[in-house]
Amino acid sequence: METRPKLLLLCAQLLAVFSDPGCEERLEAMAARGPRVLIIGAGISGIAAAEKLHRHGLQNIRILEATGRTGGRIRSQRFAKGLVEIGAQWIHGPSQGNPVFRLAAQFGLLGSDALLKENQKMNFDGYTSANPVIYSSSGKKLSPDVFANITELYHTWLEKTRNITGGGCTPEDSVGSFIRQKIVQSSADWDKELADINMAFLRGLLNMECCSSGTHSMDYVALCPFGEYTTFPGLDCTFPKGYESLVNQMKAPLPGGSVLLNKAVQSIHWNGSFPGEDSHIYPVKVMCEDGDSFVADHVIVTVPLGK
Ligand SMILES: Cc1cc2nc3c(=O)[nH]c(=O)nc-3n(C[C@H](O)[C@H](O)[C@H](O)COP(=O)(O)OP(=O)(O)OC[C@H]3O[C@@H](n4cnc5c(N)ncnc54)[C@H](O)[C@@H]3O)c2cc1C
Repeated sequence: METRPKLLLLCAQLLAVFSDPGCEERLEAMAARGPRVLIIGAGISGIAAAEKLHRHGLQNIRILEATGRTGGRIRSQRFAKGLVEIGAQWIHGPSQGNPVFRLAAQFGLLGSDALLKENQKMNFDGYTSANPVIYSSSGKKLSPDVFANITELYHTWLEKTRNITGGGCTPEDSVGSFIRQKIVQSSADWDKELADINMAFLRGLLNMECCSSGTHSMDYVALCPFGEYTTFPGLDCTFPKGYESLVNQMKAPLPGGSVLLNKAVQSIHWNGSFPGEDSHIYPVKVMCEDGDSFVADHVIVTVPLGK
């Protein structure tokens, strides 16, 4: 039973509070300042969290960022007379359901084309509507029908993967293995020449799917939740002044000093009792690589999980 030690600790804290003459003033001060929140990472997620808390009246927010800049994987760099996006570039599916689009439109960061109602209605379901001209490796122009047929077949398989729910798959099943099974079943009817061409197209289509899903192989993409991913309608668009202009707009209302740069967080301790410089006891302590430490009531972690 964990209750007793926790209760004892609470009693000890209450005793300490009531026997301390300055305590009431400190409690009042704490109530006035609101909870202290630390946010780890100043990418768009960390900035968005800070902006939202600030908008709702929280005063005591601090972002700890490992690098010397905000924006994380969004980085727009001036180059010659233009601008290059080193990270994110596109708003995929720019239409009213997309929060990035809504924010960008609200801040006036988009070009007039992106705001056209007809562009917002276009629906590619995550795929381009390109009508490609295709050559084989020997330079022979291939019939668009061959490509159309195998693409249609591939999309019916993909549609099936999206409709598979919990009962129809195990956690080990992948989109890659499902598509491979379908290829094996269908290829029995293809002659050698058609099989070679179809396999080449399928490799290309699967590579494109890898780009969309952000993976090296569809074998790494779980089959069961694949259908949970949905796309917004809208003709993909970019930010004329760079994607980073969105981060800068979101950051602008935060009070000066909210973001501490070059503060790589090393460890986070929570459910503890850590005294702050105001003598208040905080449940969270964040340690940085440079030896600095910060206490808080809450911590929000926005660092990427992968490498
Ligand atoms: C090349 C590229 C192209 C992309 N293209 C697009 C696109 O076209 N459209 C699109 O919508 N998305 C795109 N994305 C994805 C998009 O950039 C990300 O989804 C988004 O920027 C993630 O934001 P985030 O705040 O969650 O994470 P991040 O931007 O990764 O921010 C996390 C922050 O945490 C900091 N951090 C990490 N560890 C610590 C630590 N220990 N202590 C303190 N701070 C720490 C990092 O320095 C970083 O600033 C692209 C990404 C890349 C890399």
